[in-house]
Amino acid sequence: SLLERPQLRRLLEAFNGGGEETRIVGGAVRNALLGRPVTEVDCTTTMLPEATVERARAAGFKAVPTGIEHGTITVIVAGEPFEITTLREDVETDGRHAVVHFGRDFVLDAKRRDFTINALSLGLDGRLHDYTDGMADLAARRVRFIGEARTRIREDYLRIMRFFRFHAEYAQGDPDPEGLAASGAERHGLAILSKERVRHELMRLLVARRAEDTIGVLADHGFLTWLLGGAAEFGRLSRVAADDETGPVPVWRLAALAVMVAEDADRLREHLRLSNDEHKKLAAYGRLLGLIKTWGLPLNALAIRRLVAEHGPELLGIVLAATTREPLPIVHEEAREALELFRKGAEPLPVFPLRGADLLESGVPKGPKVGELLARARQAWLAEGCRMDEGYAGELLRRVLEQA
Ligand code: ATP
Repeated sequence: SLLERPQLRRLLEAFNGGGEETRIVGGAVRNALLGRPVTEVDCTTTMLPEATVERARAAGFKAVPTGIEHGTITVIVAGEPFEITTLREDVETDGRHAVVHFGRDFVLDAKRRDFTINALSLGLDGRLHDYTDGMADLAARRVRFIGEARTRIREDYLRIMRFFRFHAEYAQGDPDPEGLAASGAERHGLAILSKERVRHELMRLLVARRAEDTIGVLADHGFLTWLLGGAAEFGRLSRVAADDETGPVPVWRLAALAVMVAEDADRLREHLRLSNDEHKKLAAYGRLLGLIKTWGLPLNALAIRRLVAEHGPELLGIVLAATTREPLPIVHEEAREALELFRKGAEPLPVFPLRGADLLESGVPKGPKVGELLARARQAWLAEGCRMDEGYAGELLRRVLEQA
């Protein structure tokens, strides 16, 4: 149980008593009850943030005010961090952020949370506090809003995304009808949220246990095209989800679901404010998919090697998983063989053979020039099929230096 964790116990022992109470809340309690892994432990406390810091330091723990305006202090006990937040009550909201006040009431703090299964708290004495019937919903594997769903969504429209994300991760059966109807009715409110927050929830949903059927629900209720800014390809998402070789990686799931042609990657970058790295992965997926589909330019080992050298064999694995059962036979066989070879290590993954140090040692002065020359050498190396034969590195270096 959670209370057997030595660091957590030490924390709770130091943070209870003297008229103050601190409990474990939210995801940690929920996951412990479900027997799922607990990665982060959040606590809630009657102490004001300054008092939390003081008590932590008096007990010899490090205290870092990581979100002091929300009342959150990160306390580190023997290397393990815990987030300690002062009890809160919502007072008003603009649909994006609730304005919260500190309080001393565990019931009010539970009731301002989103879903009943997220509102359980556990005290140092081992008592489980359930003010919202969360245990019943947990047992029934049901994600239900606390209070009236529509009202709760209007306070913070991100709760629509969270409803589907938690459903996908924890629920059984169909989504709660009230939550689903309210989400549909309030759908327009998603538009006022920052794209980053929406993306964060979407990416987590994509790797949740029941991602596929929840994405199906989102599509049936008209959310999906809006979320992706374009069409989706469910079959590919399920094939990638079923192929657990690479493990659930959000960006690859997004690729399988939403990238049908290379240009989709650019649209998605704008639409979801993706990072450069995420965009590069989607674009590579789109390019490889295009190569495999058109078979216009010969898809030989070279094209594969290039993309694999840039993005690792998982890219190829994802494209193959996504397009399995689509009529792309010859190419598929060839690509699959190449992938097997990469995986077995029989065909080593190409590694770019030059380092900045090689250029410096050859007399190139330190500065931006080094990076430029390396980038040019890398382009040449990719164009020449990621050669790895002996002597090639030296030859490449000589050519680069001639251009310097
Ligand atoms: P996970 O482990 O999947 O992150 P979690 O429950 O820890 O799950 P968080 O997003 O970290 O999820 O939120 C922590 C807790 O804060 C939730 O369990 C919930 O009680 C509360 N919470 C978070 N976001 C909201 C929100 N938008 N509205 C109301 N309560 C929220």
